[in-house]
Formats: sequence, C-alpha cells, structure tokens
Amino acid sequence: MQLAHKIELKPNNKQKSYFEKTCHISRFVWNWALEEWEKEYNQGKRPNALILKKKFNAVKREKYPFVLDVTKYASQQPFIQLKKAFNSSFKGISKHPQFKSRKHSVSSFYIGGDKVKVKGKKVWIPKLGYVNTREEVRFKGKILNATISKRANKWYISFVIEVDKSPYQSCESQAMIGVDLGIEKFATLSDGMYFENIKVMEKYEKRLKKLQRALSRKQHPKHKGDKTLISNNFIKQKKKIEKLHKKIANTRIDYVHKVTTYITKHYKSIVIEDLNVKGMMRNHHIAKAMVSTGMYEFRRQLEYKSKLRNNSLIVADRWYPSSKICSNCGYINPDLKLSNRVYRCPQCDLEIDRDLNAAINLMNYGRVSSTRTHTPVERGNVDERSLLPKKHPLVEAGTQQVDLHLVRFV
Ligand SMILES: [Zn+2]
Repeated sequence: MQLAHKIELKPNNKQKSYFEKTCHISRFVWNWALEEWEKEYNQGKRPNALILKKKFNAVKREKYPFVLDVTKYASQQPFIQLKKAFNSSFKGISKHPQFKSRKHSVSSFYIGGDKVKVKGKKVWIPKLGYVNTREEVRFKGKILNATISKRANKWYISFVIEVDKSPYQSCESQAMIGVDLGIEKFATLSDGMYFENIKVMEKYEKRLKKLQRALSRKQHPKHKGDKTLISNNFIKQKKKIEKLHKKIANTRIDYVHKVTTYITKHYKSIVIEDLNVKGMMRNHHIAKAMVSTGMYEFRRQLEYKSKLRNNSLIVADRWYPSSKICSNCGYINPDLKLSNRVYRCPQCDLEIDRDLNAAINLMNYGRVSSTRTHTPVERGNVDERSLLPKKHPLVEAGTQQVDLHLVRFV
C-alpha cells in the first residue's frame, strides 16, 4: 500500500535559493521539452519524450551548464511528466500540456526515492544536504519518491511511501452511523451527537474581507485594457491575502481531519449522502462555497481513512431525500425548506432537529442497503486517489491546534 505524506520544510536562506533554482530548472526543462515536442509535431514527426531527453542530455553540458548544479531529477523528470501529460491529454483526462510560467504555475520539483534520506526531523536533498522539517515522517516504509513544492511562501515535501500494512488500527466497533453535513452544524451523527463548525473561521473571514477591501484601494488595473500599473503595495497586500487563505484552508482541513478520524475510529459502517447535488445548490454564495469545499474534503478523507481502517462507507443514492423523510413514520414532506431547522411531521407529530432527522434517515438507508448488496470500499493506492476531484496528499502537514467540538443534542 502506498501512502502520500506531506510535511512542511524549514529551509534556511541558502536552501530556499536552491529550491527556487531547482524549481526554475524544472520549469525551464519542461518548457524546453514542450517546445521541441511541438516543433517536431508540426514537422509531421512523432515526438518521443525519451528521445527528447537524450537530445537534451547531449547538449546540456555545453548549452545549459546551470542544470548540473542541482539534482539530476530536476532536468530528467520533466520529460517523464510531459509524456504522462500527453498521454492523459490524448485520453481526454486532462488539457493539452501548457508552458509553465513562474507566475502562474506551482513551483515544484521531483526527487527519486533513491536520492532522499530521512533522519529524524531532517531530510537529505541531493547536492544540498540536510534540510530541517517541521515534523518527523510518521510512516515506516520505503520512500518511493518525493516532491518539493512552494505554496504561499512556504516549502513542503511530499513523500510517497510504500508500507507493508496500514499504519492505522482497524475499527473495532460494529456500530453503524449516519452522518449529515450541513451549514449550521458541520456534521450531525444519527446517534444524537454533532460536530459544531469551528469558531475561529468567522474571525478569519472578517479579517479576509478587510484585507480584500484594502486590496481594491491599492493601485492596480481595474478592467481589461486599463493601463494602470500594479503597485508594490498591491502585490504586498495580495501576498497577505494568500497567506490568510492558506491559514484558513489549513485550519479547516485540520478540523475535518479530527472529525473524520473520530468517525472512522468509532463506527464500523458509515453512511453519508452524495454531495454533488447539494454542493452545487449551495454554491451561490462565497461563504457557502467554502462550506462545500469542507464537504468535499470530508468525503475525500472519509474515503481514504475508511480504506485504511477497513470501515464500510455507504454513499446514499443522490436522489434519496434524507431531509424530507420522517425518521419515525416514513412520511415524506416535499415542502421542507432549507430554513426549516426543525422537522415537524404532520402524520405522527414527531418534532426533531432537521439535521438529526436526516442523519437517522441516512443510517436507516445504510441498514437497508447493507442487507442487499453491499461492498466495503475497496483498498486503493495513490493512483486511484488521483481520480478524486482534487489531488491531495494522504496525510497533511502541520497539525494546528483546533479542538474538536463534539456536542450532544438535548
Ligand atoms: Zn412521522
């Protein structure tokens, strides 16, 4: 089984400039290869990434000697990546490969597993030496490769590690639980517990709005064709916003991690709703769009943690009306609105919290469907996960201190 594990690096200035340089080389070689590819293609030839790589290697010493200063992977891997990119664009999975610019593409480079070594809170990078990391690698196994990348001015290393068995204990309990995700409460469980939304978010979002208002006042072009230059203050302000975005995302992801860990640890079978429809419906507002991002993240984490702990994850049919059914008598209320926080059943007089009602219905759905055909989520590897809407490492870096707000209905 392969695990991806991302850790924040703590490079000094010299190491940071090595990283910058290596990312630059990696981008340069990618662009070189893509240009050659297209040139050959336009001449009616059939370009081949490995032949292009040989061509590059034959001239690099003379023409591009700077590539020799950094790990050889920076100037070799782009050819393999280009080949993969063309393959998936031929299959229609992704767009035609694009040239990479410093501004608009992620800065990253790849290192093969044979060249990275890990020692405590340090990682060995070829032609550079040891770089400090924020935490130790949590899994024992063979490191297959690593990718170093930059985001919001921070550097990260993401390892792909081959492990013999899942590092997580499998879930001992036999209990089944329905989980309803919402806006008011983050997640409601069918056994009467719920996870609150994290409180710090409001504070961050207020701060974000303030920063964005200030940004619009800094000198910058305001429409297409506007010749106003972008001021340094505008750039500075943009960086501040980017940093806060990253912080918000990290805090949210960290909270979702705590929730999904709790659920997969305590319940063997987990029933959730299919998010697509709900997610789209709620996407009309920014704050709500962020909620739906949390929902996707929840689903993604629940999927891989269920694999690791051997839980069964049941996803209700997307048309199953989990909010509209009375969990007591089965009456369906077609007029239920999003603003109705309490479900009142005209048939049996049940009065119940709307989300709790939905969670119980999901559990009932799971009970019925597990007696029919039910297959637990299959074990997968890194490649399968990349089919998910957004590619994320399996275990994220830098755990922040967010408490789990688990509350019981009264
Ligand atoms: Zn009823």
